[in-house]
Amino acid sequence: HGEYSEVIVSTPAGPVAIGKNHPVAVVAGPCSVENETMIVETARRVKAAGAQFLRGGAFKPRTSPYAFQGHGESALGLLAAAKEATGLGIITEVMDAADLEIIAEVADVIQVGARNMQNFSMLKKVGAQDKPVLLKRGMAATIDEWLMAAEYILAAGNPNVILCERGIRTFDGHYTRNCLDLSVLPVLRSLTHLPIMIDPSHGTGKSEYVPSMAMAAIAAGTDSLMIEVHPNPAKAMSDGPQSLTPDRFDETMQQLAVIGQTV
Ligand code: PEP
Ligand code: MN
Repeated sequence: HGEYSEVIVSTPAGPVAIGKNHPVAVVAGPCSVENETMIVETARRVKAAGAQFLRGGAFKPRTSPYAFQGHGESALGLLAAAKEATGLGIITEVMDAADLEIIAEVADVIQVGARNMQNFSMLKKVGAQDKPVLLKRGMAATIDEWLMAAEYILAAGNPNVILCERGIRTFDGHYTRNCLDLSVLPVLRSLTHLPIMIDPSHGTGKSEYVPSMAMAAIAAGTDSLMIEVHPNPAKAMSDGPQSLTPDRFDETMQQLAVIGQTV
């Protein structure tokens, strides 16, 4: 409800407005923060290509308990180093409300992942702190469930919520990891004032499909994009197959600029 609105995020380089009448904000970076060299180098490359935000997971929600879980608190320090080196805004995921304070020391936007979209006690806690929140759509969440999850954050007192579509489960997961639901762009626009982000990386699961879906998202009116970028996708500790190389990200940003304003 209400007028199409904006979320203003403070970053070291100044405020970045996401939403109404603003250029498409781009969030880029690896799935996981792996080490200082890779995160700082990736940050430099995505900044040079025109991104305003660096993403990178410290606490990772992995299907298998034996898979890499993220470097945790030490990765937050590496994100701080990348922020210091580039001035990029930082977006990283909270998996446990007990970590909110240390995450908020470095993050400019707090990400709630798809798997926690209906973690209502955590939604209340991210609503009770003052950093903007990126709320990813649950992989089987209806639009109404997603909007009600956002409502938990708003009702707890935090008006700065960005909705991120990252693909949903459908009957065919063979060629793509998820089904990126771009119809949320016109649908959400008619239902909510909140700004929208599209994540074609998790949405498709395959790097070769990311640029075209990012272009489609801009054409359909997205406010922002999240794109996974890794210096060596074949060696990534998570989500390598869907990660663009920095060179491919650079090309993609040039293609995106033809469709809409990104910086
Ligand atoms: C991520 O952003 O790396 C992530 C785990 O995303 P999602 O919650 O959409 O699966
Ligand atoms: Mn990922």
